Amino acid sequence: MSVFAYRDGTLCAESVPLPEIAARFGTPCYVYSRAALEGAYRAFETALAGREDLICYAMKANSNIAILDLFARMGAGLDIVSGGELARGLAAGAAPGRIVFSGVGKSEAEIRAGLAAGIRCFNVESASELARIVRVADALGKRAPVSLRVNPDVDPRTHPYISTGLKENKFGVAYDEALALYREAARSPHLDVIGVGFHIGSQLAEVAPFVDALDRLLVLARALEREGIRLRHLDIGGGLGIRYREEQPPAVADYIAAMLERLAGRPFALLLEPGRALVGNAGILLTRVEYLKPGAPHNFAIVDAAMNDLMRPSLYDAWHDILPVARRSGALRRYEVVGPVCETGDFLGRDRDLAIAEGDLLAVMSAGAYGMSMSSNYNSRPRAPEVLVDGAAVHLIRSRETVESLFALERRLPGG
Ligand SMILES: *Cc1c(COP(=O)(O)O)cnc(C)c1O
Repeated sequence: MSVFAYRDGTLCAESVPLPEIAARFGTPCYVYSRAALEGAYRAFETALAGREDLICYAMKANSNIAILDLFARMGAGLDIVSGGELARGLAAGAAPGRIVFSGVGKSEAEIRAGLAAGIRCFNVESASELARIVRVADALGKRAPVSLRVNPDVDPRTHPYISTGLKENKFGVAYDEALALYREAARSPHLDVIGVGFHIGSQLAEVAPFVDALDRLLVLARALEREGIRLRHLDIGGGLGIRYREEQPPAVADYIAAMLERLAGRPFALLLEPGRALVGNAGILLTRVEYLKPGAPHNFAIVDAAMNDLMRPSLYDAWHDILPVARRSGALRRYEVVGPVCETGDFLGRDRDLAIAEGDLLAVMSAGAYGMSMSSNYNSRPRAPEVLVDGAAVHLIRSRETVESLFALERRLPGG
């Protein structure tokens, strides 16, 4: 059963009715469930039992410190993509030796920070980046642990904006160039070549592209072995999809089983970088209906959350279920659920059949991943607070931003 379920006609987070949260913290408000977060993590852990592994949570999906801390307590590492995420992860208490650093544009300062912290591995995405890591490591008198992120050129069959493992994407080292780059890396006294990996995209609904990518990497790993380059780990990235609507993504256990089957008899430690699969269905965005604006061709439900709070519908035309917090009887009406932001693209859901009145609360479901972390202050809207429910307890894990904080860093020109 979902941790977000109705009790006596009222939608609850674990055992807390959502109207209580709205009354205490206002709306819009992100609400997460500890049980759902831990349950999602445990599904990976259980499926991997017996294999040397490290689950590096891709923190860009949701980087609240309370959530990072929760996963760290369960033994997770982190997959980071910026110096900001490194600092945030360390502040949350992540062990540096469990952090892998991905991303195509690592700056010198970011590489320096990663080396100084003693992270587990840099996932290198180009020859130029490798050369930069060598220079920085040399200057610091360190050896940098590296793994190439190889672009296996497989089609993940997901939304084009979140597909990353095709030749045409900016990510990773081209498969055909990987061997030469490994040879070069292996010769450098400033590098410790420890792994190979891929990350082919996000919200994948099938196992097959993962299997294809893994097979290609295993071929590469064998070629490397023949040249005396022995890797310690293989990183299969993230990308496992979740159910937003009618998708049937593979169960974590099936996905992992398919990977482990391919890896049977191979000595690598397995690294994973799940993001969405750990947090996506562990959170919702709670919002209130401000106005109903009936009309033709559309009826509009104007709510107090907007594209700045949850960008996925506007950006990817993504679907999020929208549920009334209190069920009411009465005729369903078809609505465009939109926010107050001055953009036609500002919608949270289209063509939703709802029985609602002004002042009602709505829950935008599956908002735990790429919700708050992609939010902005567009239209000078303070970001929503974040609340984590644990059984009957409610913890505020991020306060609502103040309007003053939005322009605190700005300065008038002198004179005048
Ligand atoms: C975004 C990202 C992930 C996580 O992707 P999900 O689809 O959220 O699992 C993992 N690895 C890398 C390199 C990423 O950029």
